[in-house]
Amino acid sequence: MTNAVSATPAGAPWFSYRQGVLHAGDVALPKLAEALGTPLYVYSRAALRAAWQGYQRALEGRNALVCYGMKANSNLAVLKEFARLGAGFDIVSGGELARVLAVGADPGKVVFSGVGKQAWEMRAALEAGVLCFNVESQAELRRLSEVAVELGRTAPVSLRVNPDVDPKTHPYISTGLKENKFGIAIADAPEAYRLARSLPGLAVVGVDCHIGSQITEISPYLDALDKVLDLVEHLAADGIEIRHLDLGGGLGIRYSDEIPLAPADLLEAVHERIRARGIDPNARRIILEPGRSLVGNAGILLTRVEYLKAAEAGRFAIVDAAMNDLLRPTLYEAWHGVLPVVPREGEAPTYDIVGPICESGDWLARGRPLSLEQGDLLAVESAGAYAMVMASQYNTRPRAAEVMVDGERWYVVRERETVAALMAGESVLPDRR
Ligand SMILES: *Cc1c(COP(=O)(O)O)cnc(C)c1O
Repeated sequence: MTNAVSATPAGAPWFSYRQGVLHAGDVALPKLAEALGTPLYVYSRAALRAAWQGYQRALEGRNALVCYGMKANSNLAVLKEFARLGAGFDIVSGGELARVLAVGADPGKVVFSGVGKQAWEMRAALEAGVLCFNVESQAELRRLSEVAVELGRTAPVSLRVNPDVDPKTHPYISTGLKENKFGIAIADAPEAYRLARSLPGLAVVGVDCHIGSQITEISPYLDALDKVLDLVEHLAADGIEIRHLDLGGGLGIRYSDEIPLAPADLLEAVHERIRARGIDPNARRIILEPGRSLVGNAGILLTRVEYLKAAEAGRFAIVDAAMNDLLRPTLYEAWHGVLPVVPREGEAPTYDIVGPICESGDWLARGRPLSLEQGDLLAVESAGAYAMVMASQYNTRPRAAEVMVDGERWYVVRERETVAALMAGESVLPDRR
């Protein structure tokens, strides 16, 4: 990997060097560290809006809807921004539904995904009036039917089919292979659709698939689309009409040298493929559920070097952020760029960037050439997606604060957690006599 100092920040131009200091928008990161402490998640409002514009352009003139896959980053400020821009939302729990309702988003643009929906979550989503339930099993169809009948409502359903295509990404984030727990095998889908049609309280509206994450090629999407279109034809012959095709999320971002897929290119290729079958591509609505690509490079994790340590195994920079703040490196062996906030001249030995947690898996980056001194600030890049949302309080470490920068202003969008808050729900047994 090239020297981080010379690299263009992954979040450029929203994160950029000015006079030798890394900025978020017009705000110098050392100023934020001073005011709010570290570790600190820093998001850029402009970057969120720019990512949304990429999808907006792709939607122009097309019968399509983008539902933000909000599990990537569910901070209310992020959700509100996308709601203002007209996004729909892809939720995976009753808790996420509560968040989208809290920011006043339109429930009519919400799709409800997930393999393990509980009855209370179904009830809440039916009462809110969501656009669609993406159902992942026959057992779930039966439960949803019961809940809908109880409430006297009709649940719009898509079946999440598993097209068995290889998204060519990390095994933990590929979801469309037949060995995954997700979806209904596409061969079993016609039977499941017949069941859906026969059950009271359900209305079949679509087909759904989501094949994985951090995908940088169009071909896996088109492979999945071909199988979905075959299914749609099969269902039509059965008298089951499909009104929308949900192709899921999964578009990749640049962490190091990946070349991301442009949403407009993907939708163009999708439309082309549908047209090639003699079908009007606008006859059915296309739904996309992007998460990472809307937020991933709109955030960084700001952390301070506590200690430098030379061991036989190499040099360590022990920082105040840890695996409880950013799990991706140890969970997926994910690579995140690490930038010095104020780069130093001179020798740049190779460091492993590690946290204070008592686990060997507690590392953020390995083998990075950096010129460092104790007290320096580092920015872990591409930390807008699957970062804060996976944070835990392991080692009784309060979770980091989150701040959103807008030009020269900044807003704390989540207070730093306190140790007192961590203990608040706990209690001890009375003394034993
Ligand atoms: C996680 C998820 C998404 C978002 O995936 P990204 O890779 O972040 O775009 C979309 N749909 C479903 C069903 C998901 O589980």
